[in-house]
Amino acid sequence: MIDRYSRQTLFPGIGKEGQRRLGNSSVVVIGCGALGTIIATSLVRAGVGTVRIIDRDFIEYHNLQRQVLFDENDIRDGLPKAIAAERYLKKVNSSVEIEGIVADVNYTNIERLVHDADIILDGLDNLETRFLINDASLKHKIPWVYGGAISSYGMTMTIVPHKTPCFRCLSPSVIGRNIMATCDTAGVISPAPFVIGSLQTAEALKVLVGAQEINRDLIIIDVWEGTFHRLKIVPREDCPACQGKYEFLDGRFGIKTASLCGQNAVQVLNTKVEDLSFKELAARLKAVGEVTYNEFMLNFVVDSREMVIFPDGRAIVKNTTDESLARGLYAKYIGT
Ligand SMILES: [Zn+2]
Repeated sequence: MIDRYSRQTLFPGIGKEGQRRLGNSSVVVIGCGALGTIIATSLVRAGVGTVRIIDRDFIEYHNLQRQVLFDENDIRDGLPKAIAAERYLKKVNSSVEIEGIVADVNYTNIERLVHDADIILDGLDNLETRFLINDASLKHKIPWVYGGAISSYGMTMTIVPHKTPCFRCLSPSVIGRNIMATCDTAGVISPAPFVIGSLQTAEALKVLVGAQEINRDLIIIDVWEGTFHRLKIVPREDCPACQGKYEFLDGRFGIKTASLCGQNAVQVLNTKVEDLSFKELAARLKAVGEVTYNEFMLNFVVDSREMVIFPDGRAIVKNTTDESLARGLYAKYIGT
């Protein structure tokens, strides 16, 4: 153990005491795309005690350009990202408790998924879930590190509940201008998420060892232009979350369908389902279309439409961005 981390404990900011604290810490990484894979691999290698990785998606070829924990075999094996990440990282550091969870993080499950964490890391591709993390963070007093990257640029900010401004304190114009673009419209080159994911990892290490040098600004980088800016954020007086109004956590802005970033696909959520029997479902669907499944997901093709269904009842309808069509197909074939 001493040898494995020797280069890290030599660094005065960590030291042997910091290393001990890392080993007793628990982190949750929400979203395992480019940011999430960089963060997860760094924290597992750094010897954080428990790393929980939550992601709702499966792996596709266009992910391999920047999502460093996955390879072509994972795609052939039909593995969800959270499972592929867990399997690989267990080989990297067997002393770390690694937990891959295939789930969509939403207002019904986030508190259960993060309540025992010392810090939450954002590897997401959508704003709504970030506001949800922000609510859960403030309510349970768990720090979180926001990160987003698109094209050649990205942003990050560390939120320490009741000590720094929160994510909803950011003015809507700042959020709107910089992060409403998606990777399917703007594209992304790997150095952008790699830099942001690395900055997020550094923040996590600082928070976990109890360092005082926490970043309190919004950091904005552009790897193509080679720029690095800091924006001072002041707490917004009328911020609902800072006043204890957790509107996202209360499900006020919850949605049942969502177009997926980077894919021509719609996700359908069914919070009523907890544990779906693939065997029964496959038997039913074989009558109308093509069905294949493993323990993690079921693939269903009917009338040139393709759906992937997960054991928690969630489905991804491929080759469409029409949410009502997706909802209709779900109701028709899976039921509500
Ligand atoms: Zn706030």
